[in-house]
Amino acid sequence: MALLEFDDVHVTYRARGTEVPAVRGVTLAVDAGEVLGIAGESGCGKTTLTSTVLRMQPASAAVSGEVRLDGQNVLELSWGKVRALRWAQASVVFQGAMHALNPVQRIGDQLAEPILLHDPKATPRSASARVGELLEQVGLPARRAKSYPHQLSGGQKQRVMIAMALACGPRLIVADEPTTALDVMVQAQVLDVLSDLVKDLGVGMVFISHDLSVLSSTCDRIAVMYAGRIVEEGPAAQVFDHPKHPYAAALAGAFPRIGDTRFRYAPAGLPGDPPFPGDLPTGCTFHPRCPRAVDSCSTGGEPALLQVDDRRTACFLLQPEQVTA
Ligand code: SF4
Repeated sequence: MALLEFDDVHVTYRARGTEVPAVRGVTLAVDAGEVLGIAGESGCGKTTLTSTVLRMQPASAAVSGEVRLDGQNVLELSWGKVRALRWAQASVVFQGAMHALNPVQRIGDQLAEPILLHDPKATPRSASARVGELLEQVGLPARRAKSYPHQLSGGQKQRVMIAMALACGPRLIVADEPTTALDVMVQAQVLDVLSDLVKDLGVGMVFISHDLSVLSSTCDRIAVMYAGRIVEEGPAAQVFDHPKHPYAAALAGAFPRIGDTRFRYAPAGLPGDPPFPGDLPTGCTFHPRCPRAVDSCSTGGEPALLQVDDRRTACFLLQPEQVTA
């Protein structure tokens, strides 16, 4: 049994009488000690999908399917059980550390809060000791507990957010674009911290990013999302170095690589934007932007996500028997 399993998960937002399907039938699994990367542009459903693990989606959203954490379907839990699960079994590292920390509270007090809330045996003294350990675990001196957020750099704040995610010893961490706001040197340091923690603590991690190059260096597997669905999923190095789906290829081609003469002048780009989830194109939803689209891609249904060699892909050209007339 995997640590986390998404089984045919659908999430539909309702706004002013309109239904907006943000996630459409995603099936994925993450094992303990494994890092799964989820890639895709903004609006492809990455954050909406992972928000279901801790039931963080808005009340207006309809969620179906199963999201099993350690075999337990979190979508069926009472709110009391969801609250107990947050931090203790699964936690989140949010994107904007600068905005996620309380600016008028010391770092140590913010880190101690979930410990005191979730561990009935914790005392202010034991929580304080644990805060020191957590800070050292993410490469910060324990004395930083006395600092306020404005006294830390962006990278240090993000390390504090990672320490906070570890505070109650969760089995799963969801890292939602944890390095996006950081410069490349600090980004590399934060990625090292995350990789070491997965190795040392054996936690499972879901790592969300639009940056396939970051995911390829951090993750064991990568799932690429487009318009609310997985379009390619497989071993990280293979998806980045030899993408099969045209969208995954476009994402991988958007990043320059040292020594690759194809990027002598500029990386290739992908014109256009992802479709609005409430008004999806017919056929393959990627066809208006796909450089390999053929006439049949825009008619009939969507390509199914099928296993091809070492990965799952959803493209008619990779599954010729799927092509519709
Ligand atoms: Fe492109 Fe057609 Fe494949 Fe969709 S099914 S990704 S439009 S080639």
